Amino acid sequence: MGFEYLVIAFAFALPTGIIGKAKGSSFWIWFMVGLVLLFIGLAAVILSRREKDEPERQCPNCLKAVKLYVQICPRCGTELYLPDPRAVRHPGVRS
Ligand SMILES: [Zn+2]
Repeated sequence: MGFEYLVIAFAFALPTGIIGKAKGSSFWIWFMVGLVLLFIGLAAVILSRREKDEPERQCPNCLKAVKLYVQICPRCGTELYLPDPRAVRHPGVRS
């Protein structure tokens, strides 16, 4: 622990924050994650999903908007298999 640790921590925290911001999240939140977790934080931000670009669909039972990869509705518990293509919405794309 010392100066070398700080240099290494910043070397991980900076790209973690930049990638986090590029994915539509907060720079400072990811900067702190990278600062504490180092390469684990960097791996986490690289693997994290872009929430804005994730396609959504509506639950046919309770009409809650859920992400396409969600298989069970968090509100009513309805199982959601392959979605009807007409029900898929892309919130990042203006129609
Ligand atoms: Zn539902």
